[in-house]
Amino acid sequence: MKLIFLGPPGAGKGTVAQKLVDDLAIVHISTGDLLREAVKKGTELGKKAKPHMDAGDLAPDNLVIGLLKERIARPDCKNGFILDGFPRTTPQAEALEAAQVKIDRVINFNIADEVIIRRLSGRRVSRKTGKIYNVNPEGIPQPPSDMPKDELFQRDDDKPEAIRNRLMVYRKQTEPLIACYTKKKLLMNVDGNRDLGPIADEVKKALGRKVT
Ligand code: AMP
Repeated sequence: MKLIFLGPPGAGKGTVAQKLVDDLAIVHISTGDLLREAVKKGTELGKKAKPHMDAGDLAPDNLVIGLLKERIARPDCKNGFILDGFPRTTPQAEALEAAQVKIDRVINFNIADEVIIRRLSGRRVSRKTGKIYNVNPEGIPQPPSDMPKDELFQRDDDKPEAIRNRLMVYRKQTEPLIACYTKKKLLMNVDGNRDLGPIADEVKKALGRKVT
């Protein structure tokens, strides 16, 4: 089972993917996570990608395509995967086709800009564990009450200016892929303006899996 999760940043793609991978026995591949790991390790690729990421722009196609191809060639991908945040441009989608990666379904998360801005601006990351929390009153998951305040930080690309840019980049460079996958009859739309649990169930059902 090879799935693509398409949708703007903050649509909940990563959280829904996490809820599905165990049931489907496939792996969750987030190019954003792979790039952040490369930045943290200080690799050449990470150094090249960092300024683009901090500004909320896309990293260059050749870097991301190379990184993704290497990842999906690993043995843990043999049952399948969810691509979260890839492809994000037409050349990336073409690279998948050229590599003869057969995608079963593309799940498209539709979500209003206001919901995204609210979700992303409340997002915080634990310096210790890398886990993501949301400090908005309705945010999920909330940080534990005994967590020291300075353990959490806000990613540069979750700051308001970068969020606005990421949304613009999404509309311009990634949204055209919706038409491309609709034409290929692979697209399934989900309403991302809701809680993420019901979305995961809806996707499971559409894939013919039991919802418990
Ligand atoms: P994400 O966590 O998926 O929002 O990704 C964080 C950042 O990593 C994005 O804003 C981009 O700068 C970069 N990135 C992630 N995936 C891609 C991709 N497929 N193509 C280009 N840049 C990407």
